[in-house]
Amino acid sequence: MRLFILFFSFISVISVNAQRNCTAIINSAMPVISSQSNSMSPEKIITIPVVVHVVYNNAVENISEAQIISQITSLNADFTKSNNDFSKVPSVFAKLAANTSIRFELAKTDPMGKSTTGIIRKKSTRMMWTDDDKIKYQANGGSTTWDAKSYLNIWVCNTVPGLTGYASFPGADRAVDGIVIRYDAFGTVGKVLAPFNLGRTLTHEVGHWMGLKHLWGDQQCGDDGIGDTPKQRNGNSGTPVFPKTDGKRSSMLNSKALAPAWNNNMEPEILTVNTRDIVVYPNPVQSGNIKLLVNTNLGSNGKNYAIISSNGQIVKTGHLLEMEEDINVQSLAPGIYQIRLTDIASNSSTKFVKQ
Ligand SMILES: [Zn+2]
Repeated sequence: MRLFILFFSFISVISVNAQRNCTAIINSAMPVISSQSNSMSPEKIITIPVVVHVVYNNAVENISEAQIISQITSLNADFTKSNNDFSKVPSVFAKLAANTSIRFELAKTDPMGKSTTGIIRKKSTRMMWTDDDKIKYQANGGSTTWDAKSYLNIWVCNTVPGLTGYASFPGADRAVDGIVIRYDAFGTVGKVLAPFNLGRTLTHEVGHWMGLKHLWGDQQCGDDGIGDTPKQRNGNSGTPVFPKTDGKRSSMLNSKALAPAWNNNMEPEILTVNTRDIVVYPNPVQSGNIKLLVNTNLGSNGKNYAIISSNGQIVKTGHLLEMEEDINVQSLAPGIYQIRLTDIASNSSTKFVKQ
């Protein structure tokens, strides 16, 4: 049986259903690798035809063919363990890595059977796209999905700040099956911008497209369901050095079994981190500070936040300048709270429990 794994280091926003949003800060020091059992013979290479829909509003977003090809090349390198930074994979994981025998190539035949470059270019009046799948429909100014049974659809466009890409999961509606990537986080040459210039945003999203969860299972100290890596508290940001630990092994071990209050008295959905782009921990919090991780562009002026009690009262407000900040909640009464970014265009909120 084939198992394959991808190692990432990034912040993530949390998904809903069959979709993953990723504002990925891919750690350039921690290359993405692919792995499988070593039983796959070379002749069983699986080739996946790819169609790249370049949906652009201006010439900058209309990326070059060279940029697109650079992305396909780096994706194939990652999936065949021929990426040139493989030596940086920590030894504890390197032994698990292998060539997946999965290859990607720009489609040569379109759904009508005609010859194609595998690249579609669509000029759109829309300047920015979010994760609502509208880009996958011509009627919205996007580009309609090619049959997902036969192609991996990738849309390259300008996305809203904080979103570098997102992917459907296996089982998604075929009309929206595929991956969206921001034009400057796609490929390794051309308009691509560091630190997203290694092609790893797509490697990451293809992992989701094939069914891989984030290492932390999109919840605090959750799991990705594959026993190759230890549990991880949350996503990482920046470029942490391996091994990164927070010195709180005991709280990680206890987080799933904190107390009867955690297990019995709370609605499960409240205890699951289920937000688009902010994460709070510890959750529940017993005293002192919560740490707020925000996975969205705060801009140079930062963003305001509000903590709202279960009866709708704003009990605390503040201003965020950093993507990771401590907020003192010592004075809050026990209860369930929502914390949300309150600036326009932010729909970011999550719940936490004060014990
Ligand atoms: Zn992701």
